[in-house]
Amino acid sequence: MKQLTAAVFGILTQFNGLNGYLIRGEDGFTLVDAGMKGFERSVRQALHQLGSTLSDLKRIVITHAHPDHVGALPSLQQVVNVTTYAHRLDAPVIRGDWPMACPKPAELGVVGRFMLARMQSMSLVPARVDVELTDEQIIEGIAAGAQVRHLPGHSHGHIGLYLPAEKTLIGGDVVMHLPWGLTPPLRAASPDWAAVKASILKAAELPIENLLLGHGAPIIGGAQARLQAFARQL
Ligand SMILES: [Zn+2]
Ligand SMILES: [Zn+2]
Repeated sequence: MKQLTAAVFGILTQFNGLNGYLIRGEDGFTLVDAGMKGFERSVRQALHQLGSTLSDLKRIVITHAHPDHVGALPSLQQVVNVTTYAHRLDAPVIRGDWPMACPKPAELGVVGRFMLARMQSMSLVPARVDVELTDEQIIEGIAAGAQVRHLPGHSHGHIGLYLPAEKTLIGGDVVMHLPWGLTPPLRAASPDWAAVKASILKAAELPIENLLLGHGAPIIGGAQARLQAFARQL
């Protein structure tokens, strides 16, 4: 667990894992993304390091309905009474009512098709969503002015959580931060590639210093310029 801004703490993993983020608010903590199966242990440990327990977790915001972001959601919901938020287009996937949206195999190369098949074989355990989100919705209680940004493409209901007071975007998989720089999300897991690019441009408009992603090291300082430079190459 690492403090990243005044209110945001990262539960950071290696690149092939998933980063989750805890935001300290007035009434307790909000978790952004519930990681892979077993991630609940990391959440419990991080809260413990902050002098808190799982009962201080008040909300979970899911950036999108992929197995690496919702894997531990059912087990967290079993042990703690949290309000769970997701965009209205991904909520039915999390609940198990709709299948995960995927690109058409014809759009992909050989490696992409292999990765698509692998992803489709990962099953999602259905979980509850209490609040369905829309673009620019303010979520009370997380941090001053915390706002949803609909950034579709990698999934139809993919969102980022914009924290204006922290000059921070928790961006899910809108881009990834590989050791050699920013890259788009995995194409094999992204049903709408044109929307992926539009969402990167949309994220680059935000006046942020910090960009905290699902995969890769957090960018602390200068994030908008980094994102704008990356968006220009698309
Ligand atoms: Zn994803
Ligand atoms: Zn991911």
